[in-house]
Amino acid sequence: MLVSHILKSKGSEGVVTTPPGVSVAQAAEILSSRKIGALVISKDGKTLGGIVSERDIVREIGRRGSACLNDTVDSIMTARVVTCALTDQTDAVLQKMTDGRFRHIPVVEGTQLIGLISIGDVVKARLSELAMEKDALEGMIKGF
Ligand code: AMP
Repeated sequence: MLVSHILKSKGSEGVVTTPPGVSVAQAAEILSSRKIGALVISKDGKTLGGIVSERDIVREIGRRGSACLNDTVDSIMTARVVTCALTDQTDAVLQKMTDGRFRHIPVVEGTQLIGLISIGDVVKARLSELAMEKDALEGMIKGF
């Protein structure tokens, strides 16, 4: 299965982004209200500046306490973001996530951000693929 199939099945949700200058507290509020685990940091909503996940916020609170909530989100984001393309296979994306120990990956085309998939999206897609394979195999066996 391709990344493009996952994005299509997610519909037109778009990617939740925020500019680099917002505070860590505001980023946490967005994660909470949008019920998501990671936020793409982008100055224009189209290009990728970094990513901040709930783990970054929890780690910083653990290190420095609530003082970090007033800092700007770009001070705690991951700037070197691993990305994938629409034409990538989901198995390869899962491998990237496993190797890098992260659960979110932006989908880019050139310099443009076009989507974001989570490990949950990939697992869901893989499970439905396995269910289809199982049905096809059962159909073949019953057909004999
Ligand atoms: P996550 O598992 O997605 O909550 O992220 C765990 C850590 O990896 C956090 O420090 C994130 O900022 C970072 N991270 C998340 N997604 C990516 C990505 N696609 N590329 C690089 N780092 C990432």
